[in-house]
Amino acid sequence: MKNTGISEENFGQRDRRGHWKPFEKIEYAPLFVWPIKPVKLIKWIFGFPGYLYPWNIIYFLFSLVVWWIFLPPLETMKTFEPGWMLQILIRNAGLMAIWFGAFHLHLYVKKRQGKEFKYNPSWLETDGSAFLFRSQIKDNLTWCFASGLPIWSGYEILTFWMMANGYIPHLNFSENPVLFIVMLLLIPMIREFHFYCIHRLIHWPPLYRTVHKVHHANSNPGPWSGLSMHPVEHLIYFSSIFIHWIIPSHPIHVINQLLHAGLSPGPDHTGFDKIVIEGKGAIDTHCFAHYLHHKYFEVNYSDGIFPFDKWFGTFHDGTAEADKQMNKRLKRKAIRLNS
Ligand SMILES: [Zn+2]
Ligand SMILES: [Zn+2]
Repeated sequence: MKNTGISEENFGQRDRRGHWKPFEKIEYAPLFVWPIKPVKLIKWIFGFPGYLYPWNIIYFLFSLVVWWIFLPPLETMKTFEPGWMLQILIRNAGLMAIWFGAFHLHLYVKKRQGKEFKYNPSWLETDGSAFLFRSQIKDNLTWCFASGLPIWSGYEILTFWMMANGYIPHLNFSENPVLFIVMLLLIPMIREFHFYCIHRLIHWPPLYRTVHKVHHANSNPGPWSGLSMHPVEHLIYFSSIFIHWIIPSHPIHVINQLLHAGLSPGPDHTGFDKIVIEGKGAIDTHCFAHYLHHKYFEVNYSDGIFPFDKWFGTFHDGTAEADKQMNKRLKRKAIRLNS
């Protein structure tokens, strides 16, 4: 590979089978610790990488641009007309193609950093019975564009139609600037809370077997695997938008909520711990916890802010000790189910 000035050996190691994992174990945000650790907390919120930087700021900036340039006026969205509805669909298709496509192109097509920082030593499946057309990328693209895109856009269209007609409460910055900013800051947390709840729901065996297994076919995920889901999962996954049907919201909140849900699965499923920027350094993807969920299925339902997995015994911090605990727990579960 090209000289990037940064090497995976300094951050982790590969096992005999070639699987890489970081030296640092996964840690939760310092939100639910007592006594409060203010310095750690401030560092987590404003640090790089942290709660805001870089990913949530990127999604916020995207939302701002979309609201500014690519959102039809509320007045137009009062009635269901193909023009503005199509505009939303095409804009979301473009966003998806550019965002997920950029990660895929960089890491999996051009292979700019080779397997440096890649957890699983294999590339995407090109002949697997778990995938549509036996191809992981074709399968992922199909679920993303044929299901994810229309459901994401459908929720957006419905929400703005309701907002334009005054069926759901609307909020302007000048009316309540505090609520406006607090809501914007909380959107990633609201999303993670919602994601944990629906994620536990779709791991309920009847729903897992019929719905969530589409997403879990990707035990070695790539960026497009992130939004590769069964339509029922897309319906449940994007339902975090319902909060804006109840709490007064501005169009920016709606767009940010949906953009966060629609785009964050990209970096979260890269399969790489860091994205190396040649000669400049690397950006953490924060996807190791969720990668372990794809690898082991029954760990890390949450994503790093709320320690639900710790509280309910499903946390895997990436260490050998966590492997042992997980195996013990799964053995106990198998005995329980067989008795
Ligand atoms: Zn899952
Ligand atoms: Zn996933």
